[in-house]
Amino acid sequence: MTEILNNSLDYYIGHSTNFEERMKASSGGIGSAITRYLLSKTEFKTSITLFYDSKKCSYQPKLIFSPNEINVCGSVYQDIDIATFLKKNIEKVKSGIVLTCPPCQVSIIRNLLSEKKIPHFIMSFCCSGQTTIEGTWCYYRFIGIDKTQIVNMQYRGNGWPSGIQIKLKNGKNIFYKNYTNPWKLIHQSLLFRPKRCLFCKRDTGHNADISLADPWLDEYKSNDNVGNTLFMVNTELGRLIFNNLKNDKIIDIVKSNYDEYAKAQYTNIQKEFFVTNNIKYIKKLSDIIYIKWYRKIVTSSIFSMNIHIKFMHLLKFMYKSR
Ligand SMILES: Cc1cc2nc3c(=O)[nH]c(=O)nc-3n(C[C@H](O)[C@H](O)[C@H](O)COP(=O)(O)OP(=O)(O)OC[C@H]3O[C@@H](n4cnc5c(N)ncnc54)[C@H](O)[C@@H]3O)c2cc1C
Ligand code: SF4
Repeated sequence: MTEILNNSLDYYIGHSTNFEERMKASSGGIGSAITRYLLSKTEFKTSITLFYDSKKCSYQPKLIFSPNEINVCGSVYQDIDIATFLKKNIEKVKSGIVLTCPPCQVSIIRNLLSEKKIPHFIMSFCCSGQTTIEGTWCYYRFIGIDKTQIVNMQYRGNGWPSGIQIKLKNGKNIFYKNYTNPWKLIHQSLLFRPKRCLFCKRDTGHNADISLADPWLDEYKSNDNVGNTLFMVNTELGRLIFNNLKNDKIIDIVKSNYDEYAKAQYTNIQKEFFVTNNIKYIKKLSDIIYIKWYRKIVTSSIFSMNIHIKFMHLLKFMYKSR
């Protein structure tokens, strides 16, 4: 059933018809709507949700067994190893499982679940690269927050494209618009990027049943502040579930196509080209950014991180001409 249809992808843009779910989700809540729908079926009694653990000052994965347990919290820009978590908890999975994971984990998870003969529905997303938890902690330091004082935080969700929301123990709420400094600086610096992401050529998880993304297109960027998801249906199972959701009016969609996808996800689609053509620069950069003393200096302030960005530009220029 989960045979991959390499040649016949369907593209759509749409949202959950449950307004609260759509609002709370990262984009249009398609990922949450699919999880909720499948968890209500006897064939899929298990899923994985992410929740903020204030003691660990980070997001943690959790197995769930009913739609009421889904924590709709938007995209979590924190490197979470869903495959290892699943491996450790595989005996607890009841019936089938629906889950979301980064593109680089789809095959590992599909192989594990197939081996264990556990029915599964896998969603993935377009991925510009993960950030280690230390990246988020550096962000708190740059904006002058003590991480132990945070009761909850979200990177996305509650409108589109929204941004980082932090709730402190003293009742104060902090909000920074999506992809603005200092998060943008931390992201661009690549200092908190897992090494595998530096060399990654994947735009999305084409081997997932469904792949989710933001519709970064002019008409959505200028008119939509609630949210829509641009998504690809990659397998027959994906197509079957998608048709059920559409027929049951759980989602509201319009047809899209590869050209719109390529426009909305231009940077991700260029990853293969970028990595191939800049491999010497990336290797040199990765030799430098994981050196302890270098990291300590350049992550010490916004000023030093900006100098690091200038150094990156210089390095790229030097290695381009070789
Ligand atoms: C690290 C990361 C990088 C991304 N980069 C891009 C990008 O470059 N371009 C782009 O268009 N979109 C990107 N996305 C995807 C985008 O942010 C949304 O996930 C997508 O638009 C789906 O929206 P939705 O409202 O349908 O999903 P929702 O209804 O919000 O459901 C999303 C599902 O993903 C799960 N999830 C969230 N974070 C993680 C995580 N870290 N690991 C595993 N599961 C997770 C949630 O638990 C939820 O089940 C990225 C997402 C992540 C997590
Ligand atoms: S950028 Fe690539 S390696 Fe990094 S999390 Fe995304 S899919 Fe995985």
